[in-house]
Amino acid sequence: MNLIFLGAPGSGKGTQAEFVSEKKSIPPISTGNMLREAVKNGTPAGLAAKEYMDRGDLVPDETVIGILKERIAKDDAQNGFILDGFPRTVEQAKALEDMGVNIDLAVEIYVPDERICARMGGRRVCDACGASYHLEYKPTAVEGKCDACEGNAVQRVDDKPETVLSRLKTYHEKTAPLRDFYSERGKLKTVEGQEEIADTTRLTFEAIGC
Ligand code: ADP
Ligand code: ZN
Repeated sequence: MNLIFLGAPGSGKGTQAEFVSEKKSIPPISTGNMLREAVKNGTPAGLAAKEYMDRGDLVPDETVIGILKERIAKDDAQNGFILDGFPRTVEQAKALEDMGVNIDLAVEIYVPDERICARMGGRRVCDACGASYHLEYKPTAVEGKCDACEGNAVQRVDDKPETVLSRLKTYHEKTAPLRDFYSERGKLKTVEGQEEIADTTRLTFEAIGC
């Protein structure tokens, strides 16, 4: 089963993608996490991506599509995968089709912009393994420390308020058109993001039928 998660930055799509990944035993593939890893390791893709990411702009298609192609060719992705943060433009969605990738379902986690802005300040990410947390909705057991590894749970540079607004604008301009793209293909389901993570998970599982 090949799934896509759509949703604004901070909608909680990555968190839900992780739950579905466990339930269906297929890997979650987050282009955001892969790009942050590439930046950390100073790879050519990371060097190409860094300035865009820091500004909250989309990384050029050729870089992201290259990373994605390599990732879905790996063994663990042959029985299905969950894309989190890709495609983010109609061009990227078309590139997926051109690769011959069949998408079973695109799940949109819908959260109004006002809620997104209120939530973003609390968002944290592990600087070592990429696990995501939230001060209020998904706190770490020990403040500032990742539950999964030795890393620190820190605020992302692109989570400051000005950058969040510009990422939201980009989302509406570039990524929201994907709703029509997948809805025209009969593949879109929308889940309303709830206040409690577990409630959104229940609705997400219902939408996917798992
Ligand atoms: P969020 O969902 O919170 O916006 P992500 O971790 O998915 O965060 O992405 C972080 C940043 O990585 C984006 O702002 C963008 O610069 C870059 N990025 C991630 N995925 C893509 C993509 N598919 N196309 C272009 N840029 C991307
Ligand atoms: Zn960690």
